[in-house]
Amino acid sequence: MGKQGGDSSSLINEQGIRADGRRIDELRPIKIEVGILKNADGSAFIQFGKNKIMAAVYGPKEVHPKHSALPDRSVLRCRYHMSPFSTEERKNPAPSRREIEISKVTREALEPSLMLEDYPRTAIDVFVEVLQSDGGSRCAGISAASVALADAGINMRDLVSACAAGKVAGQVVLDVDDTEDKEGQADLPIAIMSTSNQVTLLQLDGQLNEEEFNKALSWALSGCKKVYELQREALIGRYFGKNEKVLEVEQ
Ligand code: ADP
Repeated sequence: MGKQGGDSSSLINEQGIRADGRRIDELRPIKIEVGILKNADGSAFIQFGKNKIMAAVYGPKEVHPKHSALPDRSVLRCRYHMSPFSTEERKNPAPSRREIEISKVTREALEPSLMLEDYPRTAIDVFVEVLQSDGGSRCAGISAASVALADAGINMRDLVSACAAGKVAGQVVLDVDDTEDKEGQADLPIAIMSTSNQVTLLQLDGQLNEEEFNKALSWALSGCKKVYELQREALIGRYFGKNEKVLEVEQ
């Protein structure tokens, strides 16, 4: 579904403030929690503005059907899904074309970060369930899934951190929300492995000229770095924060 470039002029005022009160280069508030689902091997919950997204990881585990196993590595399987109550009007729970596409790009964004060769003949399942959506859910889902994979103890080279920039009312903006996505002229979601600065996802819906693209890319990269800090903090808080307290009690 390409962008039509609707009338988004009311979405940024003369002072450069957006409809939700943000500056054009400002992220929405982000909160990440780790290890919240008892039955999953790893899990994370992310609030990215009004997005509320759960990520759960199962595995490495035996593959069914057996012939889909690979002799030299684990098979990463990802499912992105929006729950029926995640949108204003009930969403059909059956997987849409969009969800199938996002499941694919989520797998492609995460795969380079994982040492799948350490787990031959197994599968790792990643479930991204959007409980409430507000634009930018693929990026928030990828970031949560990467934390959930770390929580599951899957060997990885780096965390994957994602964030989008776009164009609204003729201006480049960081972190496009649902209204801006619908009314705006472009959406550029990207995911990176922060330590090596490698891009694992880059999509562009709409049109940007070269100058706008470079600005949007550089803002989205800085958004990814901020997400990375929060992912690290969440994991450190979960593992080292709690462990330190346990040690204090034991001494
Ligand atoms: P992303 O969530 O990664 O930005 P899109 O750009 O495709 O993905 O979608 C933008 C937003 O549109 C979603 O976050 C969601 O809020 C809204 N949306 C997507 N699909 C539906 C749907 N079937 N019904 C209502 N809203 C939807």
